[in-house]
Amino acid sequence: MQIHLSNTLTRSVEPFKAIRETENLVTIYSCGPTVYNYAHIGNMRAFLFPDILQRVLRVVGGYDVRWVMNITDIDDKTIRDSALGSAAWRTEIGEQTSDLKQNLRRFTQFYTEEFVSDIEALLIHRKGFYQMPFATDYIPQMQDLIRRIGAKGFAYERGGSVYFNVGEWRNADKYGKLFNIDFENFQEGVRIDADEYERESVSDFVLWKGQKEGEPAWDLEFEGKTIPGRPGWHIECSAMEYEILGVPFDIHTGGVDLCFPHHEDEIAQSKAGYGVEPVNYWCHNEFLEVEGEKMSKSKGNFFTLRDLIAKGVDPVDVRWLMFSTHYASRMNFTFGGLESGRKARFRVQEYIYDLWERSGGTITPSGDHASAQALRNAIFGELANDLQTPKALAELFTFVNRHPASGTDAAEAASVLGFLKELNEIVEVWQFTPRPAQTLDVPAEVQQLAEARWQAKKSKNFAESDRLRGEIAARGFVVKDTKDGFALEKA
Ligand code: AMP
Ligand code: ZN
Repeated sequence: MQIHLSNTLTRSVEPFKAIRETENLVTIYSCGPTVYNYAHIGNMRAFLFPDILQRVLRVVGGYDVRWVMNITDIDDKTIRDSALGSAAWRTEIGEQTSDLKQNLRRFTQFYTEEFVSDIEALLIHRKGFYQMPFATDYIPQMQDLIRRIGAKGFAYERGGSVYFNVGEWRNADKYGKLFNIDFENFQEGVRIDADEYERESVSDFVLWKGQKEGEPAWDLEFEGKTIPGRPGWHIECSAMEYEILGVPFDIHTGGVDLCFPHHEDEIAQSKAGYGVEPVNYWCHNEFLEVEGEKMSKSKGNFFTLRDLIAKGVDPVDVRWLMFSTHYASRMNFTFGGLESGRKARFRVQEYIYDLWERSGGTITPSGDHASAQALRNAIFGELANDLQTPKALAELFTFVNRHPASGTDAAEAASVLGFLKELNEIVEVWQFTPRPAQTLDVPAEVQQLAEARWQAKKSKNFAESDRLRGEIAARGFVVKDTKDGFALEKA
């Protein structure tokens, strides 16, 4: 099916055409996490979005995908926190050494492993990744790009750092392709060293930051000088894309906050250094918000995935919640929203169990039956249209309401199951198994009474164990002894 995507570069929804259409191959680069702490679930939206996108490209578009998500293991924040001897060193990582690069690697490795376990819980499978490169493994490529930019006359050294000359670049090409930059306050030759800055401070941005006391450093050879320092954040992505995917490539993703300056600077650097417009489709996800504000570390209004798991949330419901909102719409996070999403998810799961019973466990292609075929066209049509996931789900629930499993015959049930299984290659939140035997819902209080009774019985305090048996019975449960413990049943 023809895929359409909303492209920030053109501010319109465009038919998607791959650069390597004849090979059926799509190349995607996603700005990955900055590994200085645990990612919050707002960040997770920025990783679930490209996961859904790459699955839609595969399952609906029929493409093969190469997907790169970098790990930002060097920037202002990782350097700051790996050097400070933050709480994480004391409690989780261990002793720092005097080797600054080794400290940075151990610190970022720790948070990378935590990140990987989070995305695995959200069912972002790493086997689907082509690569998850560390920025610090590509420093020679970043240095090469800085020299290329310098050779074209768009970079200069000042005070031991190297900057991109925005004023000069604006004579050659547009600066502000993704984001309407207000140049009112722009002053030629004013420089900024921070990785993140506001649009009010448009100025020459840093490509290579001169070494500061206590920071790890690499030597850059630039215009006859050796400049110890480290890469700026923006140059990392430009160099990794070029090295791993080649430019131009098809799709670049990230949260909307990355449009400026990160992505704007990426375009300027890549075009200045490599001479080509690096990306055909820029796709940005909107924010996950809490009470109308972006979820962020600095505002303190964030949950990590492990915070939610500790509150009893199933990570699959986080995946489902993000799927049920369009990626380019702001999304308000509430526990109520998670709960109602969970109910909707189980509604479909129950339907799958019912269909399974009807079909006797047989699953056939959706094309075998007209109603399954029509459902596929409707749902995949919505997904192909710039990932309209809420509309796709509306189609699904309308179908579930209008086609109760009791009204289907075995052939139709098998074919609808065939489609739902295909859809699940994108959504991945349902089980295709017979309905499991009902599990008993035992209140925590009854479970505790039963354990106390078991302890009493083991210590031969039979009066107490009989009394506890009575307490359990009064709550509607029967406790039975088994070979190696006890079992509870409904009275
Ligand atoms: P960082 O680890 O800060 O570099 O961010 C990783 C990704 O998360 C980037 O693509 C950000 O744009 C994205 N991001 C950060 N906060 C949010 C949020 N509240 N909602 C959605 N995406 C976010
Ligand atoms: Zn990036």
